[in-house]
Amino acid sequence: MKYVDEFRDGDKARRLAELIRTEVNPEREYRLMEFCGGHTHAIFRFGIHDLMPENLKYVHGPGCPVCVLPAGRIEAAIELAEAEDIILCTYADLMRVPAGRGDSLNRARARGSDIRMIYSSTDALAIARANPERQVVFFAIGFETTTPPTAAAIQIAEKEGLSNFSVYCNHVLTPPAMRHLLSSGEAHIHGILGPSHVSTIIGSQAYAGCCNDYQVPLVIAGFEPLDVIQSTLMLVRQINEGRFEVENQYSRAVSQTGNRKAQALMQAIFEPRAMFEWRGLGGLPDSAVQIKAAFHAFDAEKRFGMQAIDVADIRGCICPAVLRGVSDPVDCKLFGSICTPEQPKGACMVSSEGACAAQYSYGRYR
Ligand code: SF4
Repeated sequence: MKYVDEFRDGDKARRLAELIRTEVNPEREYRLMEFCGGHTHAIFRFGIHDLMPENLKYVHGPGCPVCVLPAGRIEAAIELAEAEDIILCTYADLMRVPAGRGDSLNRARARGSDIRMIYSSTDALAIARANPERQVVFFAIGFETTTPPTAAAIQIAEKEGLSNFSVYCNHVLTPPAMRHLLSSGEAHIHGILGPSHVSTIIGSQAYAGCCNDYQVPLVIAGFEPLDVIQSTLMLVRQINEGRFEVENQYSRAVSQTGNRKAQALMQAIFEPRAMFEWRGLGGLPDSAVQIKAAFHAFDAEKRFGMQAIDVADIRGCICPAVLRGVSDPVDCKLFGSICTPEQPKGACMVSSEGACAAQYSYGRYR
């Protein structure tokens, strides 16, 4: 298959890995954060860890949208679904994430709330059209990749006068989270494998200030094994040469300026949110978006007076530390015993992009 098989060539992968092994400086450590959960998944799935030298370590980042959503915002959605006669629509992964006291959207549905799984914002619109007598709330999450479709849904709802449709907006932004991780320094990151899908929207130039300010190189990487290994080599070379540039390995999909149409759509509907709470990272200013005042009729938080609820994570779950790149999933005492993909205790075990689920599924314990 074009763009897949050619990026999974085992011989090329071994040759690239050999180059990395010859070029790394044995006297130093290389801690490379894969920001995006898709890369975490690829690294575990294809055993890329095993091809790397001992002193090069992939550090997992917060780029899994389900994982970074704090339990309190899920709890608020459960409370809304139970208090009001609404239809709450969201993605499958989110329905399984533990909220407060081990509750979840799935459990709320089992108790009788009308919570429906959808594949896209278009599905939520279709449910609103089919149920004009009921309020339909789309629980929207994700980074810059999924924000434009949510913006489009609001635009369509306004055009159609769909007064029973609203969005519980939980869209977050990549560069502010990246800045936070680099400024804290606690994960000791020497280089970043930059997100691919997000970068198709925001473009490679969105990271330039971040790399410059913290003097850390970034290479935007595709998801196939050769993409990841080649990007790793590019990072090793930058680190060795003391460079901290934004390089784009995934040039078949990512441009310098990104998708202008999608950016314009986002800017038309959303504005920066002064403060947003991330699981693991805490409250970060301007790290998420909210619906502009002109579209408040479609803002579920405004329409229903929703407030995030203060909820503690499950005892023993170290998702926050995993998301900051300071702990590995296997450091968690619940990993693989009490917490499994079938019975997840934390968000990182729910989503296939979560580091705990990826490590559990592919059995890499290095
Ligand atoms: Fe949380 Fe489970 Fe991961 Fe432990 S293994 S950090 S409980 S998701």
